[in-house]
Amino acid sequence: MQHFRRNRVAAERFAGRRQREDEAPRLSTRVPDLTSLSLSIEERTGGNSLTEPKYLRRIVVGGAPALFLLPCGDPRCNEGGHDVTPYIMSSLLRREGSFQGEDACCGSLGAGPCLRVLRYQGAAEYRERTALK
Ligand SMILES: [Zn+2]
Repeated sequence: MQHFRRNRVAAERFAGRRQREDEAPRLSTRVPDLTSLSLSIEERTGGNSLTEPKYLRRIVVGGAPALFLLPCGDPRCNEGGHDVTPYIMSSLLRREGSFQGEDACCGSLGAGPCLRVLRYQGAAEYRERTALK
């Protein structure tokens, strides 16, 4: 019954989403050199069939929170979603121009776990560094 425990964790993680967004540090504070960021996102199910068309999400670097919570694309999914914040922040802090990763949904579908897997591809640009800190 592993996934029931995971569901509760997920519920707690996502319940305070709005609050977390308000309290999170700004992206521009955490990564001051970042000038643009976009994420290309697609979802697959456990097999390998594409379930959702790819979509592009442009992040407004100026006011965005340093928080990347992406919803699960399956409307029947219960308390799912993807918190890819740690992955994306570590790429941005390393000044990576392109990066990708994936995250399995932590929600449930009826009595079973949700099998959606989100895959993201990020493209970021950074200000030239004039002096090393
Ligand atoms: Zn899901």
